[in-house]
Amino acid sequence: MRCPWCEFEGDPRPLHGHLASDHPERIGFVERGGRSRYEVVCPICSESYDQVIKPRLDDPSFVEEYRQEIRLVGFDMLVSHLLGAHPEGVGTEAADRQGDNEEHG
Ligand SMILES: [Zn+2]
Ligand SMILES: [Zn+2]
Repeated sequence: MRCPWCEFEGDPRPLHGHLASDHPERIGFVERGGRSRYEVVCPICSESYDQVIKPRLDDPSFVEEYRQEIRLVGFDMLVSHLLGAHPEGVGTEAADRQGDNEEHG
């Protein structure tokens, strides 16, 4: 599949790593209703998802590490969404694969 933000291509797993290392800013951290949330917006349909995250200590270095973990979770959700909702948009064959070529006798 193809990265929706650049030319990178690869399987979902390497793509997931690529997103986390090259596009970390795509996961937003927001405060809403007094709770911390992360937010990710689909680059293809502009649908956004957000999830409440558990607050952690105020140690900045710890928070940065924690954020990286959250990004992995957020990108995981985005990759599943892309595969499920936009297989053609990210250039996967997933849509074709579940075809009707049953070659069992
Ligand atoms: Zn990319
Ligand atoms: Zn979408």
